[in-house]
Amino acid sequence: MFYLIITILVADYVIGRLLSILNASYEKLPVPAQIADIYSEERHRQQTQYARANRQLSWLVNTFSLVLMLSLLCFGGFRWLDIEVHQATASISSTLLKGIVQAIAFFMTIDILESVLSLPFDIYQTFSIEQRFGFNTTTPKLFVADWFKSIGLQAVFSVVILSAVVPVYTAIPDWFWLVAWLVVTLFSVGLSYFYSQLIVPLFNKQTRLEDGELRDAIARFAQQAHFRVSDIYVMDSSKRTTRANAYFTGWGRNKRIVLYDTLIEQLTTDEIVAVLAHEIGHNKRHHTLWSMLLKALMSLLMFVLLGLVLRYDLLSSAIGCENSFHVNLFLFYILYSPVNMLLSLLTNYLSRRHEYQADEFAKQNQQAPQLVSALKKMSAASLNNPCPHPAFVFFNYSHPTLVDRIIHLQS
Ligand SMILES: [Zn+2]
Repeated sequence: MFYLIITILVADYVIGRLLSILNASYEKLPVPAQIADIYSEERHRQQTQYARANRQLSWLVNTFSLVLMLSLLCFGGFRWLDIEVHQATASISSTLLKGIVQAIAFFMTIDILESVLSLPFDIYQTFSIEQRFGFNTTTPKLFVADWFKSIGLQAVFSVVILSAVVPVYTAIPDWFWLVAWLVVTLFSVGLSYFYSQLIVPLFNKQTRLEDGELRDAIARFAQQAHFRVSDIYVMDSSKRTTRANAYFTGWGRNKRIVLYDTLIEQLTTDEIVAVLAHEIGHNKRHHTLWSMLLKALMSLLMFVLLGLVLRYDLLSSAIGCENSFHVNLFLFYILYSPVNMLLSLLTNYLSRRHEYQADEFAKQNQQAPQLVSALKKMSAASLNNPCPHPAFVFFNYSHPTLVDRIIHLQS
């Protein structure tokens, strides 16, 4: 079992490296004709340098985390942590409470350690790479605040989920998989409903559209597409980055389209309406519902497998630990990663189809030319890769490539 865990970690790293090398090999190809007008020689050169800088950083991060993980597993790092957690909680008399506290302490230590160790890389990414290519607008103060908020948020999620799941495992181990799946699914459906009210405000301000030419144009299109203009918001994303984007989120009465203020700055009114048409397309085709359903099915599979694995004490003993829920859960997470990788192929495929469908909606509403022009502008401004390797796209892309979208929109 120990060697299986090691093999999975190494294989995952090797596949990632291979895909990245394949992708880099496409760098020398000329820019496809459909987008040659937005990638001048100078811009293409910039894009290649930007991609290279990011590739080197991710190579460094992945190698560092693989070496660290292997060292921790081989030299008993997690075993040491588990013993420390057991000793620190020895005075708690209730077995149930002890189990909960141990699980929370174990996972939070790993989470915090991970955040601290990845901090230098994150700082380099934001204040060196993004800065050099003109994307960064984050101040050090905001960066620090974001970092603490993310850790806090992660801690709250860990506490909520573990406090609900550990008692279930203690009380009804045979039905643990089913109840835990229900708990986690309800939590994520609820989170998706309240995402805009609870999570986004921690990081950004969202305001309704101001009166004016843009609001009028948007209102006209929204009315024609039967979408409430009051559900369209503008977000102050320019305080972190110059990149432009828009997204559709939530469901039921809490659905919302969010436009980045950078999008409004960089695109013309017609182009913004076309982007909005694409986002309304996501709503009309019930994409949130479909992806929530798929996510729920996938996590059901995960909990069934977890339930099976937890019945046998195979995992904890593999790294020399006492049989405990949190260590089993942690090792299961590694064992499950190949399955997760296969499933992500499916979710990415579905997501790319959804993008085509949302584009199709925009096209049916006579927005295709404006959408093409908006996508080209945003893509070139973000220095997106004009011709990624098809294998890299198949594994990693949640959106079709720009060229594929243009071909589809113009067909
Ligand atoms: Zn989309």
